[in-house]
Amino acid sequence: MTAAPLAIVSAMHEELRALLPLLAQRRTVRLAGRDFHLGAIHGHAVVLVLSGIGKVAAAATAVLLLQAFEARQLVFTGVAGGLHPDVSVGDVVVARQLLQHDMDASPLFPRFEIPLTGRSRFDADAALTDALAAAVGRLSGVRLHQGLIISGDRFIGSAAQSATLLELLPDALAVEMEGAAVAQVCADFECPFAVVRTVSDRADDDAHVDFARFIEDVAATTTRSVIEAWLQHRAHSVDASPPLR
Ligand code: SAH
Repeated sequence: MTAAPLAIVSAMHEELRALLPLLAQRRTVRLAGRDFHLGAIHGHAVVLVLSGIGKVAAAATAVLLLQAFEARQLVFTGVAGGLHPDVSVGDVVVARQLLQHDMDASPLFPRFEIPLTGRSRFDADAALTDALAAAVGRLSGVRLHQGLIISGDRFIGSAAQSATLLELLPDALAVEMEGAAVAQVCADFECPFAVVRTVSDRADDDAHVDFARFIEDVAATTTRSVIEAWLQHRAHSVDASPPLR
């Protein structure tokens, strides 16, 4: 297979385990402590990998995918805590924008701004995000939200913490630990990316309990269904154009 692959990055073992059976002509390359699984899903060249948890792990994984595997587009899947009152456990949130909620170089730079970039919010690729949102739309009984996802190196596991975040960022739909790091790397590389998260908890005092129960039962199945629906409907002609790097 010669086409530059689509990268599908999972934060959780359970999700990768659910995706691997879809992969035809599987070949695994180990690099920087990660197993990169190359192959095809519904005829599209893909590379599947586990990112690990947190911004550094996610950023390192993204760089490897873009440099060593020449990924042409990147989709990050995982779970997230719901922040906005409308966002419930089991809903899916597709990011239109991402922000690092733990970036704070104030008073030198405005809060949340990535120093020397002049930006705090990074846009997900519109076309890729539309395609993933459409894939979520094809699943029955799944509620979809689209908007701001915020990321930081902290599990938000108390109602007080999520209230503080919502006060500062009232449009934040969900919180997780990787997406905005991938967004920053992909912006540097000018690589289209999207982030799809299933809501595993409400980022409140019960978050840790809900989280554990949810991963096995729902998250892995939802991720697999979204990725399958996306790749089944993705035109092969899209893959024929040269990678954007
Ligand atoms: N106990 C888990 C740890 C997962 S950390 C384990 O052993 O694997 C939480 C993961 O889910 C991160 O990848 C993060 O992106 C996402 N996540 C889900 N709910 C979250 C929340 N409330 N706050 C922050 N990240 C959350």
